[in-house]
Amino acid sequence: MTTSTSAITPVVATLRAEVAGPVLLPEDPGFATATVGFQTYGPHRPDVAVLATTTADVRAAVRVAADHDLPVAVLNSGHGVPPRYTGGLLVAIRDLAGVRVDPGRRVAWIEAGAPWSAVIEAAGAHGLAPLSGSTPHVGAVGYTLGGGLGLLAR
Ligand SMILES: Cc1cc2nc3c(=O)[nH]c(=O)nc-3n(C[C@H](O)[C@H](O)[C@H](O)COP(=O)(O)OP(=O)(O)OC[C@H]3O[C@@H](n4cnc5c(N)ncnc54)[C@H](O)[C@@H]3O)c2cc1C
Repeated sequence: MTTSTSAITPVVATLRAEVAGPVLLPEDPGFATATVGFQTYGPHRPDVAVLATTTADVRAAVRVAADHDLPVAVLNSGHGVPPRYTGGLLVAIRDLAGVRVDPGRRVAWIEAGAPWSAVIEAAGAHGLAPLSGSTPHVGAVGYTLGGGLGLLAR
């Protein structure tokens, strides 16, 4: 359900004060790009979208949404088929794509929006190769939690 303009205006003002990344309304340039993922057959139509650039952006966006009783959705690669998000706040996390590898322990730390390709690349720099799902641009979090055609499926 979409939120009225009068209700969304103060939320957007607060988001723009607290979030470093772009805070986009449907009429803003960049909104369509921020809210679309790999599957393009039905656009999301949130009231407002945040293109998170840091984890602090995610924290701030979720806190502001909670303060205003605004539903929150998360979009990474958009490779899955979530419900079409209508109204509320959509947090796009694709720019949170950092990966750090400890080669001694063979452990990787991944940011929320890192695609599996980033894990392959970071591991490869240390001569390591992770088990991989079928599509490198699916989110590493998605694969790790059992989504996609996953790490052991093939
Ligand atoms: C037509 C079609 C074809 C497909 N083909 C393939 C394929 O060839 N190979 C394959 O491996 N998989 C395939 N998939 C499945 C897809 O990989 C999974 O749906 C996977 O879960 C997508 O994860 P994502 O994070 O990349 O995408 P998203 O669609 O962005 O996210 C999937 C769900 O996870 C949530 N989410 C993602 N990251 C986070 C996070 N950090 N924190 C909180 N929530 C998060 C999102 O909100 C969403 O609900 C296909 C799916 C469809 C519909």
